[in-house]
Amino acid sequence: MTRLTGENRIIRLLQERYQADSSWLEKGIGDDAAVITPRNASEHQVITTDMLLEDVDFRREWTTPRLLGIKSIAVNLSDLAAMGARPVFYTVSLAIPPGISERWITEFYDGMTETGISHDAKLIGGDLSSSESKIVISITAVGESVNRKVLYRSGGLPGDALYVTGTLGRSAAGLRLLQAGCRQTRSRARQQALDAHRRPEPRCEMGLWLAQSGLVHCMMDLSDGLSMDLPRLCAASGVGADIHLESIPVFHKAVLRDGDPVELALHGGEDYELLFSVPNAGRKLLEQRYPSRFPGITMIGEMTAKAGTIMISGPGKKRRRLPERGYDHFSGAGRG
Ligand SMILES: [Mg+2]
Repeated sequence: MTRLTGENRIIRLLQERYQADSSWLEKGIGDDAAVITPRNASEHQVITTDMLLEDVDFRREWTTPRLLGIKSIAVNLSDLAAMGARPVFYTVSLAIPPGISERWITEFYDGMTETGISHDAKLIGGDLSSSESKIVISITAVGESVNRKVLYRSGGLPGDALYVTGTLGRSAAGLRLLQAGCRQTRSRARQQALDAHRRPEPRCEMGLWLAQSGLVHCMMDLSDGLSMDLPRLCAASGVGADIHLESIPVFHKAVLRDGDPVELALHGGEDYELLFSVPNAGRKLLEQRYPSRFPGITMIGEMTAKAGTIMISGPGKKRRRLPERGYDHFSGAGRG
């Protein structure tokens, strides 16, 4: 979950060294999930795994066992959503340090399984172990395609319109609130931010709809922030991108005393919204057909032929490269 220094480089190394060769394999290391087609199967199976480490991915005192259970399964389901797959099963491995009560454990599993069920994902096994001092959670989730349609990070083409679901920076605002000592609030906007961070909602229905629409070229979920994830989508598709700053659906609610909402939208992680590309000719159809019951979609820019070059422009700002982290470098002098 949490980004690792040089993560992209390490993944590339693993891809080069250990990419499996199998007639079942449709997609191996390097996407949101792996995709296989078992012999004689009519649908693809989609497999993903995600780990949450105490004090790296979460703080015990900032959440509850129930919310932690919800988040643990949600981040895995988000990766299935990113492929357009329908969730089916998952297993969970949990390492618990001394002092964790049986009640803590059942509340954790209650939160997890209720959220799983609400997305049709059923718990089918796992492992329990002990740890010295920290909680470790690792989930493997399995989904399946519908009509063999899955979406990869590759497949985007120059000229495609780039879209995101929902708003960006909400979870990062929630994290800032928690860091500032805010655990509970009566403010609706603050509660939305805390919820986005502590109990994100995976975009399973939207991912499935987008894959079935036949209008989408490529897709991923936003776990590490737009400025980290967009280059990954572009790299997999062999394209570049032009982003329009004023189009980004920023979580504008004034929940923080300081902190720029645009910076949070670009560089804050864990929004678990979907990022996808649509050929220009399909834009109108997409916007007409996209169900109004889903969180909205917003076009934020387009893919370009300049592979690996991610540019951002905005009113009153020079068109510049989007830095992979640290909005400070983009905005120039005068900001922190
Ligand atoms: Mg992902």
